[in-house]
Amino acid sequence: MIPGGVNSPVRAYGSVGGTPPVMVRGNGSHVFDADGNEYLDYVSSWGPLILGHAHPRIIDAVRAAALTGTTFGAPTTAEMELARLIVEAVPSVEMVRCVSSGTEACMTAVRLARAHTKRDRIVKFAGGYHGHADTFLVQAGSGSATLGQPDSAGVPKGTAELTLVAPYNDVAAVDALFQAYPGEIAAVIVEPVAANMGVVPPQPGFLESLRETTRRHGALLIFDEVITGFRVARGGAQELYGITPDLTCLGKIIGGGLPLAAVGGRRDIMELLAPLGPVYQAGTLSGNPLAVRAGIETVKALAGPKVYDMLEDLSALLEEGLREATSITEAPVQINRVGSLLTVFFNAEPVEDFQGAMTTDRKEFSRFFHGMLDRGIYLPPSPFEAWFVSLSHTDEEITQTVKAARGALTR
Ligand code: PLP
Repeated sequence: MIPGGVNSPVRAYGSVGGTPPVMVRGNGSHVFDADGNEYLDYVSSWGPLILGHAHPRIIDAVRAAALTGTTFGAPTTAEMELARLIVEAVPSVEMVRCVSSGTEACMTAVRLARAHTKRDRIVKFAGGYHGHADTFLVQAGSGSATLGQPDSAGVPKGTAELTLVAPYNDVAAVDALFQAYPGEIAAVIVEPVAANMGVVPPQPGFLESLRETTRRHGALLIFDEVITGFRVARGGAQELYGITPDLTCLGKIIGGGLPLAAVGGRRDIMELLAPLGPVYQAGTLSGNPLAVRAGIETVKALAGPKVYDMLEDLSALLEEGLREATSITEAPVQINRVGSLLTVFFNAEPVEDFQGAMTTDRKEFSRFFHGMLDRGIYLPPSPFEAWFVSLSHTDEEITQTVKAARGALTR
């Protein structure tokens, strides 16, 4: 009844083989399937659950919100509070509009950039994923990388042609595009830490150079922080690396596990949005009270002084253990990590872009993935995704994961 049995393609285990477990419950760092199996979870619903599953603070907030009405289609005090928390936390964001998915946030950011610059072309990076809008399904990462179909059927040629693609971390390629299309590029959209071709950190100077190049050519810089926002630092990658984009896309964590995302940025650009300006954007459930409440509680819980240190410590422990465990294998392994985002690549060379990621040994990954699953460790079912460490993971669970990895890697 459901195409491929899933509501989002990567869930189907297409790249690792086998049948995905059907989930019935989550609690903290654990998920439970319909056959009664329990797993230690590093998917974390692909990023939102930085506090873990069914966190009491989130459940209480959602329950309380539901009791007072699930949706109004009108302004609410809660959405104003979430907007304030985001503006306070994310350095470049002066105004913010809530939407229901990261796809919508990125679509809206590009529409704003086109309206602001009166130009049509955009630049994205190979392996960068910005949701499933037509504009972005050109050499996209995440599920489409997994399927080996970077370009989707159904995307009009004319739309795809407006999307120019450069290799990630390649400053010269971006410069060349600006030379080739003078006065035509509205924006560069980038995951400041790539996380949809597996985790690939920005090389020193890459983000700085994007900032400088876009400014010089009168184009906007859009940071897609749907994954990195409130994850690699409270203020996202822009805080971590000290770069100020013009527009920022947020999602995942700001909805605390419910459908919510946002686009934010410079006031003069954001004021182009309807009803103030000519850029149309809308949503029946935008700023949904349940999602907003879950988001507020998540963002507040992340305000503790040591939260990001704790995540870093746990994730460093995991990286260290995995390095030690993978050192015994014949297969070459690269581990990329930024904060609580991590990927184990079965690659001989360091992975710095999509082309590098695509040379990964997929068979070796599948073997490792199933070895881990058999040992109760639930990883993203693709070599091109990030593992998400959450605050609900413990040192003991990290040790358990490393032990499982040692077992899974032993032939
Ligand atoms: N941008 C990035 C960086 C993402 O990782 C994703 C989803 O994984 C999106 C945008 C799209 O978000 P959504 O799936 O909520 O539409």
